[in-house]
Amino acid sequence: MRNRKIRNQMILIILLVIAAVMAAFFLVHRISAIVQQKAQKDAEEAAQKQAEEEAADQARLEKIENEKNQWYLILVNNQNAMPDDFEIETVEVEDGYYIDERVNEALQEMLADCREAGYSPRLISTFRTRETQQYLYDHTANKADTALPGHSEHECGLAADIVDADSLGWGDPLIDKQEEMPAQKWLMEHCQDYGFILRYPKDKEDITEIIYEPWHYRYVGKEHAAIIMSNGLCLEEYLENMEDYYQAQ
Ligand SMILES: [Zn+2]
Repeated sequence: MRNRKIRNQMILIILLVIAAVMAAFFLVHRISAIVQQKAQKDAEEAAQKQAEEEAADQARLEKIENEKNQWYLILVNNQNAMPDDFEIETVEVEDGYYIDERVNEALQEMLADCREAGYSPRLISTFRTRETQQYLYDHTANKADTALPGHSEHECGLAADIVDADSLGWGDPLIDKQEEMPAQKWLMEHCQDYGFILRYPKDKEDITEIIYEPWHYRYVGKEHAAIIMSNGLCLEEYLENMEDYYQAQ
């Protein structure tokens, strides 16, 4: 009788142990399935995120390449001649000075607002023909003062040399002191709002190969002008490292 009771208890214990083992096994299996599912889901999400990021990067690089090919970002310097097929239509800004018609409105607006603010900006050089550039180059004492013929932004119709009217009596107003003139200070502070940059900044002569010119403004469009001016870059640096600066919309 007592043996039977013990045997029944033993069977019960064994059954309980088996049940516990099965439950534990089931639980472990279930947990591992959940963990596995979660890991798989995470991996899928990470892969999708990476694919989206790569697509966005790709789109951004394409946008940058596309921007670089636009007329307003054309790089013309000693190493890069103005392309033979670069097409421009010029219109008169004022006083017989001509500029690319796509830039005219921005330049007019900048000059008008500068005057509105109480200053006296004066155009002294805008669009130049190849012949004029050749003449200037031939007659300049220091070749670093003047771009090579075929390599001047003035020939592209995208640049304007602007001085303070009060400097016209200096003989040569194109000197560093121009930066101290009130109209020039205003232009240097506000040019990017109209899509212009100060093309040959101080301390960038090694890159631009042109002396500091606190009078030469080049049109690049508002978006690029804002980035270039706020980062203190010259156009060469910007175009070289555009991925670091340009966030395509
Ligand atoms: Zn100039």
